[in-house]
Amino acid sequence: MDKFSILKHHFGHDAFRPGQEALVDGILSGRDALGIMPTGGGKSLCYQVPALLLPGMTLVVSPLISLMKDQVAALEAAGIAAAFLNSSQTLEESRQVWSRVRRGACRLLYVAPERLENQRFLELAADLEIPLVAVDEAHCISQWGQDFRPSYLKIAEFVSALPRRPVLAAFTATATAQVQEDIVRQLELREPVRVVTGFDRPNLFFDVRRPRKKLPELLSLLAERRGRSGIVYCATRSNVERVWAELNRQGFSAARYHAGLDEEERRESQEDFQYDRRQIMVATNAFGMGIDKSNVSFVIHYNMPKNLESYYQEAGRAGRDGEAADCVLLYGAGDVATARILLSHGTGGEPEARELERLNAMVDYCKTNECLRNRILDYFGQTHPARCGGCGNCQGMFSQADVTVQAQMILSCIKRVRDRLGYYVGAALIVQVLRGGRSQRIRELGLDQLSTYGLMREEPRERVRAWLDCLEAEECVYTEPEHATLRPGPRAGTVLFHGERVLMLSRVERQTEARSERKKESASSAPPDSGLLAALKTERTRLARQEGVPPYIIFSNAALADMAARAPRTPEEFLEVSGVGQIKAQRYGEAFLAVIAAWRER
Ligand code: ADP
Ligand code: ZN
Repeated sequence: MDKFSILKHHFGHDAFRPGQEALVDGILSGRDALGIMPTGGGKSLCYQVPALLLPGMTLVVSPLISLMKDQVAALEAAGIAAAFLNSSQTLEESRQVWSRVRRGACRLLYVAPERLENQRFLELAADLEIPLVAVDEAHCISQWGQDFRPSYLKIAEFVSALPRRPVLAAFTATATAQVQEDIVRQLELREPVRVVTGFDRPNLFFDVRRPRKKLPELLSLLAERRGRSGIVYCATRSNVERVWAELNRQGFSAARYHAGLDEEERRESQEDFQYDRRQIMVATNAFGMGIDKSNVSFVIHYNMPKNLESYYQEAGRAGRDGEAADCVLLYGAGDVATARILLSHGTGGEPEARELERLNAMVDYCKTNECLRNRILDYFGQTHPARCGGCGNCQGMFSQADVTVQAQMILSCIKRVRDRLGYYVGAALIVQVLRGGRSQRIRELGLDQLSTYGLMREEPRERVRAWLDCLEAEECVYTEPEHATLRPGPRAGTVLFHGERVLMLSRVERQTEARSERKKESASSAPPDSGLLAALKTERTRLARQEGVPPYIIFSNAALADMAARAPRTPEEFLEVSGVGQIKAQRYGEAFLAVIAAWRER
């Protein structure tokens, strides 16, 4: 068989995706490889296809136990002999795996990186023919990222201790050049074939909202998405608990996940979510790499993450099946302070300058009126068209307001405070003074005696904050980084003394209108035979229960959608469906064909 027949026979695909073929060819010709592709880009195929063409057994280093089990289940469902070794197994289970491996009855073996440090494992591996070592989530090797796993640093040592050096192939979705270089250096890749595909995920819709109160906003977002599966990320455990309890009170089917729960509870909630027993997962970022669920149709961030890398990684867990999915971030002013606290936790003191820089880019994303997708792509150094047309800002309506007077009030307040105290203060205190706050600090400093005290008494805090953000964007003020004090910027003088106009752009939330429009859109893009699709999904759920695997292991949503569109009548036609290979056709063809036949006769 050649690579194309493997692709069709086992995976049911007609063509490689951009980048996949170059990596497969490179590996087959004996070269090391580095594949950088977005989540859902199809990295696994890049080593699975060669694994089936090379003699011997491919070793796959994968960071998480939960992930391995699913990956192996998916391979077995496609008729590929695969196994995993990890600490969740009993001695007897791992003995059985070893005996299969020694008989040559495994084409792929998944192991956790820690396993490679085990001397016994090395001895056993040295007796095997291992043509390829694939390193999944290779960014775990980099100390720059948040997923650093020290044992990844030992992979190169293991590989060089093998009697024959295998081809080494590394894969990740993390984009920064620094991490890429780290991977090449630490894994000691030899002139690897490099494929960096675009990072854009066209099926994801990005949006940022700045609601006055987050909880009601979240509830209405979830109400619009009933019946769909999604993740709500919170910054802290206590937020997870609060939001989770509220969702359950409101009748949503939600699971929760954070590091404060014991292992058993975490496993249970993860499975409830994965097997579609619960629709919503409320979690901290501890709920992360272990999920390989492809039908996550939205990711809502209840709090702002600490940088855009984390955000894109977490939000990117939506829509892995290629279907339209939403990524919504709920931003509030308190999020910046929370992120700062979380950042300083690691070091015990002030966050590092680098981390603050990354935090600032994240805050800019939350505040920008420009295309959100472009902000992300810019951050990862990827070129893009001027506007994406598929994000909240591109689709939003903006109103322009003249805020010159407000700008003058704020600027003179900053100036008066500074004159009084002899130093600049932070934005929070300026807002308090303008709004006529009665804190002890204000009285002690005598700030309630200033003529600008209480000038904006009638205004809600969020509005004053929004003006400040605008002034910052318009270079009328800036935040001095070291002490986070607010100071007059380059345009301050002309605005304050010459009345230069300041305009503020703000997004108008056309709530109901915008929402009903989106609904119409999705209704019209749904396939006409969605009755059949629903029936196919029911059959998939039934089979999944019967076999004790998550539904997407049987067929992806994309495969079911194609099946519904084609409505095959014969086993031959069934094989035409994208995502249906020989083995799955044999195993499940009859059951699904029966559902289609019944639907025809209804
Ligand atoms: P990644 O590991 O990069 O996140 P996966 O390997 O899990 O992505 O693949 C994501 C989805 O894309 C899977 O559902 C897979 O079946 C599908 N896929 C991969 N390669 C192809 C291809 N060549 N044609 C069609 N679908 C593909
Ligand atoms: Zn856009």
